[in-house]
Amino acid sequence: MAISSPLLRHVSAYVDGAFVVDVGDAADSVVVRNPADDDVLATLPASGAATTTLAIEAAAKALASSSSSSSSSLSARKATLLAIAKAHDDHVDELARIITLENGKPFAEAKGEVVYAAGFYRVAADVVDGLAPRLLEARPKGLSWTVYARPAGVVGVITPWNFPLAMLAKKLSGAIAAGAPVVVKPAEKTPLSTLALFHLLHELGLPKGSVNLVFGDAAAIGQTLCEHPDVRVISFTGSTRVGKLLAAQAAPHLKRLSLELGGNAPFIVCDDADVALAADELMASKFRCSGQTCVSANRVYVARAVHDAFVDAVGTRMRLLQLGPGLAPETTLGPLIDDQAAQKVSRLVADAVDGGAVVVVGHGGADGVARMYAPTLLTGVRDDMAIVHEEIFGPVVAVSVFDGDHDVVARANASAAGLAAYVFSADAARADAIAGALRFGHVGINTGTGPTPEAPFGGMKASGYGREGGHEGVMEFVELQTIPQRPGPGPNL
Ligand code: ADP
Repeated sequence: MAISSPLLRHVSAYVDGAFVVDVGDAADSVVVRNPADDDVLATLPASGAATTTLAIEAAAKALASSSSSSSSSLSARKATLLAIAKAHDDHVDELARIITLENGKPFAEAKGEVVYAAGFYRVAADVVDGLAPRLLEARPKGLSWTVYARPAGVVGVITPWNFPLAMLAKKLSGAIAAGAPVVVKPAEKTPLSTLALFHLLHELGLPKGSVNLVFGDAAAIGQTLCEHPDVRVISFTGSTRVGKLLAAQAAPHLKRLSLELGGNAPFIVCDDADVALAADELMASKFRCSGQTCVSANRVYVARAVHDAFVDAVGTRMRLLQLGPGLAPETTLGPLIDDQAAQKVSRLVADAVDGGAVVVVGHGGADGVARMYAPTLLTGVRDDMAIVHEEIFGPVVAVSVFDGDHDVVARANASAAGLAAYVFSADAARADAIAGALRFGHVGINTGTGPTPEAPFGGMKASGYGREGGHEGVMEFVELQTIPQRPGPGPNL
């Protein structure tokens, strides 16, 4: 194994409190490569349906025993969440190094991801306080009514490669707060940071079976999670294609799903916007993880009056980006995740240029098939181009002109996706009106920020359903149980 880390002493599935190498379903291995140089970081044993079933059974057993043990108490959950947050803090550099090696993002960004991930466990620890049984003040029908927040059941967690620890944190923190055991399946491109976190979870001594980890045959694992009766919730972040597949597989079993799927974020710069601010915020939104984020500005709509000034401001900033391997201190922009990603970005850019878009910074796509993809700024982009319909997932800014708020809202909403959008205007009422008309779950006004652990985040339309973060993110893993009770001496049980 080319990667060496004190947090990666075991690199296999984790089931019922132990790392397990082979339960007989490991047909293939998972090869993890460094996107910066294609070096093999690790070759791991793959899991399939058999390991997944064992993991689900271990989780179900943990759930059954937790209702009678103190580990299910709210204070124990809170302590666990805070301990996990602290484990992130204590190992921030090493966790970040592993993320950079397997994902490619610059080390400073990876550290930011680890700190961001820790925040979800902290916020969930606060939310736990609100899960205490609630006795209704009114006494309908002369009975006492108590509402209990029960764990919803075993949770299947499937995460993507762009934020391996943050996406895990969004789901795992909510499940632990709710008292629901999990079976986690990280992306096969980036399982190492999740393995490192499981090393830390193991050291924390979480109840056996409460957290399990499988990876390998994604289709077999996904199908097993969808079909096993003990799994009651599936929390997934990834492509709309796989999200729809999971929804179809889970439908006959009436499981609850939380789906955070692809976005196609419009970034709207009105004629009264602070152009420098909009350019700064676009840079932060667009180039995080080399543009490979679902909240990344995908369609940049700029009012005709400020178009040239905005393009100048963005171009100036883009020329300062330092493309390189994520561990090099000067790097501010890392490689794309793999060659297919580079080919897709290249195809979209070449198509736009063929259709008349102008390359202001970067290149036109022909020489852009390398994973070290140069930041590229296009103007003259039109809504009939593929680059507007598809998520670019790369370091390409695609600028279109608009005339009038009504026009830009209609164009922004014309996408099937509804995850994140951004509006820049000096007029608060105007920005509010535009935001209110946008069918997106997250709309930044004069900010390009993505989600925060304290607030619910999720999509509308084809970007999925369910929310992560805040109180709402925990409730995805809670099942409410209402108990009306006749007062007075009952049967002496
Ligand atoms: P991307 O194209 O960005 O990699 P995917 O939706 O393919 O997005 O991947 C997101 C997660 O979904 C990863 O963990 C991946 O392994 C997993 N995945 C891929 N195919 C399936 C499937 N058929 N069932 C369940 N999970 C899957």
